[in-house]
Amino acid sequence: MIIGTALHLRAEPGKCIECSRCTEQCTASLEVQSMVLSGSMDDAECVLCSGCVDVCPKDAIRFSFRAGFK
Ligand code: SF4
Ligand code: SF4
Repeated sequence: MIIGTALHLRAEPGKCIECSRCTEQCTASLEVQSMVLSGSMDDAECVLCSGCVDVCPKDAIRFSFRAGFK
């Protein structure tokens, strides 16, 4: 049974051209480019402002809903 969803970021490292725009844009001063390349976008400091999503020229970062199951 689905009991809820959590908005989070997903990255596709293969699309990233390492331009650093996401890192420069980040409201929380995170190393977003490094997060993208590692494939793990889960960071407690992220405020989901969408800055990195909006600025990425390659659509390498996007929002996604993660369903919670019970
Ligand atoms: S959504 Fe905002 S706070 Fe989160 S990594 Fe992207 S730019 Fe940083
Ligand atoms: S803005 Fe996009 S292409 Fe540029 S470093 Fe970040 S994820 Fe990679």
